[in-house]
Amino acid sequence: MVTILLFIEASLVLLLSGTAAYLGRFLDLPGVIAALGVGYVSYLAGGRLFFLVLFAFLAVAGTATRYRYRQKYGEAGRAVRSWTNVVANGGVASAALLLGVNAGTYRPEFMAAFLGAISSAFADTMATEIGLLYNGSPRMITSLRRVAPGTPGGVTHYGFLGSLAAVAALWATLLIPSDLTGVRVDAVSALILLAATGFTGSLFDSVIGGLFQGRYRCTICRRVVEVKKHCGETSILVGGIPALNNDVVNVLATILGAAVGLVFALNGADVLT
Ligand SMILES: [Zn+2]
Repeated sequence: MVTILLFIEASLVLLLSGTAAYLGRFLDLPGVIAALGVGYVSYLAGGRLFFLVLFAFLAVAGTATRYRYRQKYGEAGRAVRSWTNVVANGGVASAALLLGVNAGTYRPEFMAAFLGAISSAFADTMATEIGLLYNGSPRMITSLRRVAPGTPGGVTHYGFLGSLAAVAALWATLLIPSDLTGVRVDAVSALILLAATGFTGSLFDSVIGGLFQGRYRCTICRRVVEVKKHCGETSILVGGIPALNNDVVNVLATILGAAVGLVFALNGADVLT
């Protein structure tokens, strides 16, 4: 049940974090509006802990994106993240929470689906952002051949460490004392759920991304990129399916993460005690 106090608390926290995300150039204005939607859903449907999980994802992944941005994406790479990215990463998680609430009673399987979707999106984002810091050439996950940095499906041990950091950050958030969150979490079940869904999601993202995602070559900087426009010019399609862009692959990976979380909970492993 949503109390008026929880609504006021959520509004204040979201106003502050939304302003910070905008001023810190983590998100553009449509991105902030989308994040506020996802934020309200997680706060009001899931409660304080589930908002903190979402917040940890956006803050840590956002910081990782900003870190050495030009080295990773070139002088004129993608700008700040927008609403499509927020929806692709947080849409499935929000839907899982809304389904859990609509059922009327407390439904732990939907909470597990939420955590699975977030862990999958977070692990995958961190694999990309930390993986791109690697100076050598990544290897294509399907063929193990060396490929240019930024190629969808290319993996590095840096990327693996990035996924590990995402799982650790979410786990640390879930271990926040229950006096603050009102929710008691089983530490071992939580770690297993986060690791299983995080690594499944980022592995899926790499394999599907490597096999089917649209790949382009920038006509200016010659990098292989996953966006249709780079350095202000239209890039040339060099492989994959154009409709299957990074956002679509992300959504599919979070659906898989949510499904793994759901199966986990349906088999009796309850993260919340
Ligand atoms: Zn370029």
